[in-house]
Amino acid sequence: MTVTRKFVTLDANATEPLRPEAREAVLAAWAIGGNPSSVHGGGRRARAVLETARTELATLFGATPDNVVFTSGGTEACALAIHGLGRAGPVLAGATEHDAVLRAVPQPLTVPVDGRGVIDLAALDAALAAHRPTLVCMMLANNETGVLHPIAEVAALCRAHDARLHVDAVQAAGRLFPTLDTLGADSMALSAHKFGGPKGIGALLLRGDRARPLPPLVAGGGQEQGRRGGTQAFELASGMATAARAARAADQTAIARLRDRFEDAARDAGAVVCGAGADRLPNTCCVALPGVASQTQLIALDIAGLGVSAGSACSSGKVARSHVLAAMGLGALAGEAIRVSLPWSVDDAMVEHAIGAYRTMAQRLARRAA
Ligand code: PLP
Repeated sequence: MTVTRKFVTLDANATEPLRPEAREAVLAAWAIGGNPSSVHGGGRRARAVLETARTELATLFGATPDNVVFTSGGTEACALAIHGLGRAGPVLAGATEHDAVLRAVPQPLTVPVDGRGVIDLAALDAALAAHRPTLVCMMLANNETGVLHPIAEVAALCRAHDARLHVDAVQAAGRLFPTLDTLGADSMALSAHKFGGPKGIGALLLRGDRARPLPPLVAGGGQEQGRRGGTQAFELASGMATAARAARAADQTAIARLRDRFEDAARDAGAVVCGAGADRLPNTCCVALPGVASQTQLIALDIAGLGVSAGSACSSGKVARSHVLAAMGLGALAGEAIRVSLPWSVDDAMVEHAIGAYRTMAQRLARRAA
């Protein structure tokens, strides 16, 4: 007899489960086939799907359709923005940015965050005055803690110092619906798989007047108005737009309630909540267990049937000390935290299971660490 143990994955910030509507949209587009650049009827049908997806995303995130550039994902969208908008001078970036930004800038000048993980606006103002950057890169929501930066205030400072602002909205989009206008951003990066769309597609949204022209990273055949060469994956674009529409209808308050329930239980079990006190994404919880390494917690939780992450799992699968939590001044806790991020499909039973697994893990390992 095979006994199947229950396993729950709460790792939405790594990737959300594919939404069924998005899957249907991709399959329907696949059935059409064709290359959106072909002049014949098959090409025109593919192009129609691509342009419908573009228009839908433009409407949801406040861009004009001709300023939505499809890319392979969030990493490429950030790299394209930095390459295109940050070439003429220094680039400033928040200390807790994702590597998609930090590694795309040859010599990023980093701006500190406070103990909650929120950007230090006075330090940003001073850095803008001292370095006169061409571009500032700031994420809307941090992938490890869910902490939100006050982007409208960041944008006002950028404008005052004549710098452009690129917002990495990869984790926020789909949980929140920022627009280029509400953010005051010149560009914004999106990634479909972070809101229940397919992997392998994202977009860079541009503010028309301040973000043109945009030199391509890959010139190729001149697709995307010469801003990103390569045959467009219109099937994935359709899945991306469909997922965004479905995400728009989701109840984020219910997800926040479940996140809070897990967080309260983790606190009771001895955890410290990182980023508590800041505005945060509704689905994200980052909790540190003093004296117990992140990797040890991840393994114990995996055995207990709970799949979660630590901030910065590198490609080797090992967990490095989190640069985000270190920048928040959390000292040793930066190597002792895990991230629990609830997917759109979360329910009460999944969270109860996660609480049980966390309690067991904390009791066993915290006792050993003491
Ligand atoms: N930016 C942030 C904040 C992220 O969390 C991620 C992925 O985790 C990325 C960018 C990269 O996105 P993608 O996986 O689509 O390349």
